[in-house]
Amino acid sequence: MPDSRNWFHTIPEHLVRRFPECLKLDAIRLEIKGEKLVNFASNDYLGLAFHPKVRRAARIHIDRQGLGSGASRLISGDAPELHELEAKLADWKGYEAALVVGSGYLANTGLIDALTDRHSALFCDRLNHASLVDGARLSRGRVYRYAHGNMEQLADLLQKHRNKRKLIVSDGVFSMEGDCATVCELVRLAEEFDALVLIDDAHGTGVLGPSGRGLLAEQSLAGHPRILEVGTLGKALGSYGAFILSSKEMIEGLKQRLRTLIYSTALPPCVAAGATSAIFLVQNGDFLGKLHANIQYFVQETERLDLPFGHTRTAIQSLVLGKEKAALAAAALLRKAGFFVPAIRPPTVPEGTSRLRITLSAIHEREHINTLLNVLRKEL
Ligand SMILES: *Cc1c(COP(=O)(O)O)cnc(C)c1O
Repeated sequence: MPDSRNWFHTIPEHLVRRFPECLKLDAIRLEIKGEKLVNFASNDYLGLAFHPKVRRAARIHIDRQGLGSGASRLISGDAPELHELEAKLADWKGYEAALVVGSGYLANTGLIDALTDRHSALFCDRLNHASLVDGARLSRGRVYRYAHGNMEQLADLLQKHRNKRKLIVSDGVFSMEGDCATVCELVRLAEEFDALVLIDDAHGTGVLGPSGRGLLAEQSLAGHPRILEVGTLGKALGSYGAFILSSKEMIEGLKQRLRTLIYSTALPPCVAAGATSAIFLVQNGDFLGKLHANIQYFVQETERLDLPFGHTRTAIQSLVLGKEKAALAAAALLRKAGFFVPAIRPPTVPEGTSRLRITLSAIHEREHINTLLNVLRKEL
């Protein structure tokens, strides 16, 4: 009889996922099992998680409000820090209203469930983030998936399935590819077929657009009445948690219906205060300039290498190597040379597209990038 010791099938030793303890030495260096490594695997794209002003903001608010929020926002967890952050987010990102929730995973799963019922149809890019995939699984609506970025296929599906409520769901910047959705086309199709568009721009916020406002602001679509935007506080904003942006009416409606808001403990106020301070820094510092200088340099240098890099304009640069073993071997090689870049493999990415996912940050120095590229040049 199976019990807790043999419930799961055994995974081959070399494919077992490890969760090594990562000690942060500073904003860019980690210590893992005694090895000191330069981190090229963080989504802290602007280096704000370690910024003294962000840390100080969080510390001050711990002293004011304590550590945990103690309850869901609906009950007694709705701290002023959350309201301040929501006002700041709506203003910065260009929407009427914002709603802060516990994490991106909670935002996406809760949102898709709240927006759909059994009469709805969902249209999802095949490379959407797992949290959007899981939201679609939870939904009682019908789910139709289109090949990554294939707008013709999406148009065909919208043409065919004339459900009353339709929701198009896509990453803004795709989390593993680092490429961008054609959001103008998504919105055009939404207008033609009377749908809503949910864009998860976890990796565009603090990276793309004027003052880091994200992909939709870059494409002059922020605040569009057909759009709901999701973003996270845990990536370029260096904190934790997530937010949903839309019209006042939509956000009010979500407060009544979003189960992952109502039935989950509120984000700690100190975490929200840290994020508010990070937005202020993004708006007023030169973090974006430094990040984009690093991205441009990295792309320019990798274009000269004969390696299958994605060459994107975002902080995510992937090197697709194919087999899991190839990606694991490349990761081990970089680790030996002092870099932390773990292999990304199925089911996070499709079978046969195992890769190194290199993420760049404003605080990487030229020397870090040059040494990393030298290792790849010589050894792959
Ligand atoms: C990281 C990520 C999420 C999940 O956000 P968390 O706050 O980490 O739960 C959702 N969507 C995308 C595209 C992401 O990259």
